[in-house]
Amino acid sequence: MFKKILIANRGEIALRILRCCKELKIQTLLIYSRADRRSLPVMLADESLCIGPESAVDSYLQQDLIIEIALKTGCDAIHPGYGFLSENSEFAFKCERAGLTFIGPSPSIIALMGDKQAARELVKRHGIPLVPGSEGVLSCAEEAKAVAQKIGYPVLIKASAGGGGKGMRAAYGPKELEVAYRQAVQEAEKAFGCGDVYLEKLITDPRHIEIQLAADKYGNVIHLGERNCSIQKYHQKLLEEAPAFGLSDALCSEMAETAVRAAKACGYDSVGTVEFLVDRDDHFYFIEMNTRIQVEHPVTESICGLDLIRLQIRSAAGKKLPLTQEQVLFRGHAIECRINAKSPGKITMLHFPQGLGVRIESSLYEGDEVSPFYDSMIAKIIVTGESRRQAVYRMRSALAELVIEGVSTNLSEMLLLLYRPDFVLGGYDTSFWEKNELFLKEAQLSASKGS
Ligand code: ADP
Repeated sequence: MFKKILIANRGEIALRILRCCKELKIQTLLIYSRADRRSLPVMLADESLCIGPESAVDSYLQQDLIIEIALKTGCDAIHPGYGFLSENSEFAFKCERAGLTFIGPSPSIIALMGDKQAARELVKRHGIPLVPGSEGVLSCAEEAKAVAQKIGYPVLIKASAGGGGKGMRAAYGPKELEVAYRQAVQEAEKAFGCGDVYLEKLITDPRHIEIQLAADKYGNVIHLGERNCSIQKYHQKLLEEAPAFGLSDALCSEMAETAVRAAKACGYDSVGTVEFLVDRDDHFYFIEMNTRIQVEHPVTESICGLDLIRLQIRSAAGKKLPLTQEQVLFRGHAIECRINAKSPGKITMLHFPQGLGVRIESSLYEGDEVSPFYDSMIAKIIVTGESRRQAVYRMRSALAELVIEGVSTNLSEMLLLLYRPDFVLGGYDTSFWEKNELFLKEAQLSASKGS
């Protein structure tokens, strides 16, 4: 097992990794930017080191500096968390060359599966269903139009290096496609430094269902069930639940088996997630694989009683998976709500909900500063109940109890969302936000007027 891990991340995920390392009796070194010098992870890590100014490019993304620090301070592994360097194969290769373990899959797997188009081609060869689309990267708008003509509109242009919904544009006809193509290339170049885009058929109102996987370096791959992540705002997830309510057991098992097949096809050797879209006729299609720990991993942990970060660290250290597929048991229902800050500022008052079945993942404390430099997510509220109904009720009470003052947040929207009929019934799809937006906005407005 590792002796000392460098944590190359911040916020709640840095804290989550720190806590896991403490349990495993692994020393921790946290790198941080100037903006985070008073953060909770900095206070709780065994050692911490400021590596640069606020901007991520000058701090959390400083690949060579991070490796140099790891070597100088006697670390034997680097945990990248999510975001930042977590899916950067160049960084993973650099770690390997420096004799450090990158906690994640082997660098060549990140390179393969991180390129969405390359991943599509690989899984297609293994008979895994894909959203119909272009064969490879598109060379020009004309080619996009020819493919769209063949598969039929509407279509979606997507970035090969995509993430966080960036570089994605829908088009309902050839004129719109020309504009969408140009915009997607530009946005992808800006966000990922790579303008490669491809095209997929736009599935109307799909559900986003993903399968959590865990694997080791000996060819063992197991799945830890599915998550429904269909509640999204502009393609960004807001609420996730496990198991997926309203999908048949047969469909879920088929998706899980397909995800395991996709992982085996690329020799996957860590924790990871295969994302699918499910259409109205219950056909499912592979969209991408995430080769890292995901924000929403706690809902899976809650229903299967496993620590995914622990499994990830163990696999990276060359340990065998500690359980077989048959030993994975599910119980209850879990929901996660992401609380996002809508403005930076100082937290003047903070009260997190507590009680049976409530878990908080956040690095926030009273007096803490929410800085404008990074992702806006400031807390994850996770609840578990015996049934979905109980989990929904628990989440309502938990959010009603949550107090965050000093910055504006999406709390009231999230709370209202839990009362929307389509959420309560559980059969919602990715159009949920669009369909409910007006109501949520108006209700939020009157709530703020009332207070
Ligand atoms: P990213 O990596 O940028 O998050 P994904 O490929 O994971 O992109 O897709 C994010 C979300 O975009 C999906 O959950 C879904 O809501 C929507 N989406 C992606 N591809 C399609 C598609 N072909 N048809 C309809 N919606 C899609």
